[in-house]
Amino acid sequence: MHNRRTFMRLAALASGGFALSSCEPSDRALTPARQKADGLQKIDGPFCLSTWRHGLAANEAAWSMLSRGGMALDAVEAGVRITEADLSNRTVGLGGMPDRKGRVTLDASIMDHDGRCGAVAALEHIDHPISVARKVMEESPHVMLVGEGAYDFALSQGFERSRIEVPVPEAAAKYRKLLEENAYEVEINAENHDTIGMLAMDRQSRMGGACTTSGLSFKMHGRVGDSPIIGAGLFIDSEVGAVTASGLGEAIIRASGSSAVLEAMRRGAHPQEACMEVLERILRKQGSEQEIQVAFIAIDAQGHYGAGSILPGFEYALQSESLAELYQAEHLKKR
Ligand code: ASP
Repeated sequence: MHNRRTFMRLAALASGGFALSSCEPSDRALTPARQKADGLQKIDGPFCLSTWRHGLAANEAAWSMLSRGGMALDAVEAGVRITEADLSNRTVGLGGMPDRKGRVTLDASIMDHDGRCGAVAALEHIDHPISVARKVMEESPHVMLVGEGAYDFALSQGFERSRIEVPVPEAAAKYRKLLEENAYEVEINAENHDTIGMLAMDRQSRMGGACTTSGLSFKMHGRVGDSPIIGAGLFIDSEVGAVTASGLGEAIIRASGSSAVLEAMRRGAHPQEACMEVLERILRKQGSEQEIQVAFIAIDAQGHYGAGSILPGFEYALQSESLAELYQAEHLKKR
């Protein structure tokens, strides 16, 4: 099924042939060279894969369900709720950075093996947007609710207005500084983006995906990124696999990022190949004038997985029966 290019990349992987020189692994992240020990990036049995370092704790929660035979959908929801609840996280949940009006607005989406999905955007004062997204999927005739409508729906479903005052003090201090500096153009870097996207496969080979974020720091009020947009920030097709994204939402939306990666897998590409192919396309179309970060993680229906980013520094966490690791993803550009 794999095309020639895929085969060559897989052959390179098997022989440790990834370009390692441009990787800058952090203390806990394993390099692509270490990954080859996993055998062409394939897991037999249940597993979950998450974006960034915060994925380690999220995976642990997801794994406690997957390892007991739980559903992938329940596992991803439980997993990313850990990240949403972490008020020291400036990029997910109510601890996130505010927009230019000082408001913390949250985006989230969830999707299951049967193609059912739900999303919320610009949701305020709710601790767990991912769970509201799931309710949109299960209890409403719609796929996405935004702003006040999403908030009212959440209350109608038994969610409570959060007691957390936002922005939290540290985020408020950073916000005041940005206002003073009039930092209207905010560079997207490791400081201001870090969505958690999680993909899981359960014992019955069902897939589930979740994606949740406070979005770009200091975004315009009303701005919505890729994370709650099915096909951009998250996509699952049980015949093929599952994909989620992090990074500059505008670039991901323009490329229909997650759905583009999935379509590459449908043509026979390994998830690793598929991620790199779409990243190359995004970079080519973006031109060289602006440095942007975009990252994908992907799994296929057979248990292969892959991850990649445009710039170095993107880490992803993998948890299975025998592994609980943080990896440094393959990337296209040096900084
Ligand atoms: N993709 C998110 C957004 O654009 C941000 C991120 O992943 O850091 O809202």
